[in-house]
Amino acid sequence: MDKDSRLKLAIQKSGRLTDHSLDLLGRCGLKLSRGKDQLMAFGENLPLDVLFVRDDDIPDLVQEDVSDLGLVGLNVLEERRLEMAARGATARFEVLRPLDFGHCRLSLAVPEGMAWKDLSSIAGLRIATTYPALLASFLKQNGITAEIVTLSGAVEIAPRLGRADMICDLVSSGSTLQANHLREVHTILKSQVVLIRTPVKLPEFKESWISRLLLRIDGVEQVKESKYIMLHAPRSALPRIRELLPGSESPTIIPLEGSPDKVAVHAVCRENVFWETLESLKAAGASALLVLPVEKMLN
Ligand code: ATP
Ligand code: ZN
Repeated sequence: MDKDSRLKLAIQKSGRLTDHSLDLLGRCGLKLSRGKDQLMAFGENLPLDVLFVRDDDIPDLVQEDVSDLGLVGLNVLEERRLEMAARGATARFEVLRPLDFGHCRLSLAVPEGMAWKDLSSIAGLRIATTYPALLASFLKQNGITAEIVTLSGAVEIAPRLGRADMICDLVSSGSTLQANHLREVHTILKSQVVLIRTPVKLPEFKESWISRLLLRIDGVEQVKESKYIMLHAPRSALPRIRELLPGSESPTIIPLEGSPDKVAVHAVCRENVFWETLESLKAAGASALLVLPVEKMLN
């Protein structure tokens, strides 16, 4: 297949980001030819193929335009950026969009029994992490001297093994910390998945497909919480009802045949519509309330 005619997008092969990444692409209308067991899946209906790789490889693959696009956690991206900076190189991948999944934070945590006052408590301690560049940059920014113990995994057991005094690791719910009797004390970086692209200027055809993909991604992200709401109301109740509709722009007002002082109101609400809102709308005079999920939206 002609290299200029198909986009490549790298995603995590197997891990926390895989299902969400595939789900996002599916919502953007992409149908893939085969499962995630192969290195690459062919986009059957769009000129877009998916590469399945380790998440840590995604920044380099995109920077070097082996892949045009990538979905990767900001934590991995920033670690790579700092690593390159430390070697005097400049990272050139470009962040196109933050996405609403893979939320986590890189945090410092200490063993439950350990005394903790503030950041000055770190001085002189050994901190285990798989993110040495982010940790080093944080320590430097805060003028703290401590020893970084770089591990490739299982950071949370390092204090118990006596390899470190505390850790710097990714946290989402905090249950792993709790299970290992660790207490989160400070967040270094808030992270989520981002869509990145190569710095290389691509042929017009590929550039135009990146723009189309971005519009679809924006549409998918927008409708996530959106609801379409329909109701009947006396015309006099409209001002109050418009106030109550959560995150909606101008609603459509339709006269009701045979009831001159009643109208139907249709609106897209950019936030979830809760029972409490429906109850308030009813109290304001609305009837025949209907809330529908929004599947696609294009602005
Ligand atoms: P790979 O084999 O691809 O290198 P991995 O072990 O590095 O996999 P995962 O544990 O699947 O990666 O995590 C992938 C990404 O998920 C992380 O880089 C981070 O952006 C995000 N993430 C979200 N919550 C968490 C969490 N609680 N712990 C670790 N990563 C998390
Ligand atoms: Zn990884």
